Amino acid sequence: MLEKLKNTFDRGIATVSVKSESMVEISRIKAQIQGLQKQQTALIHQLGGEMYEMWKAGTLNRERFEQVCGEICGIEKAIDEQNRRMEQVRAEEKQLLGTQPVATAEAAQAAPGMFCPACGAKNQAGARFCVSCGNKLVE
Ligand SMILES: [Zn+2]
Repeated sequence: MLEKLKNTFDRGIATVSVKSESMVEISRIKAQIQGLQKQQTALIHQLGGEMYEMWKAGTLNRERFEQVCGEICGIEKAIDEQNRRMEQVRAEEKQLLGTQPVATAEAAQAAPGMFCPACGAKNQAGARFCVSCGNKLVE
């Protein structure tokens, strides 16, 4: 019985650390994406300005045009890459947390009372809200 409670407690801690770790990672990726988007916007702006100057001068430097477009395209790819990483972090988080409700359901069947699906704390049978985190408990 004590072992079971301890396991449930550890699972609760694991859930919290998985969630906060991926939250930190996701906000880091989001900041990177924002920085890249700023660079991209600046380059597109610069390209437009340069194109206009070329038009005014009556010369179109195609090499220069290709070069800036290549840079913009590179940033676009980097943004895609960051978005994929973010999806991966979210998928990993789901995978890590996904095994837990099953384990919690097993624990609830083995012992009287019910375990909170959010934090894993044991609650009185028939309780409507978790005593530990206030999460609504479904019967
Ligand atoms: Zn709870």
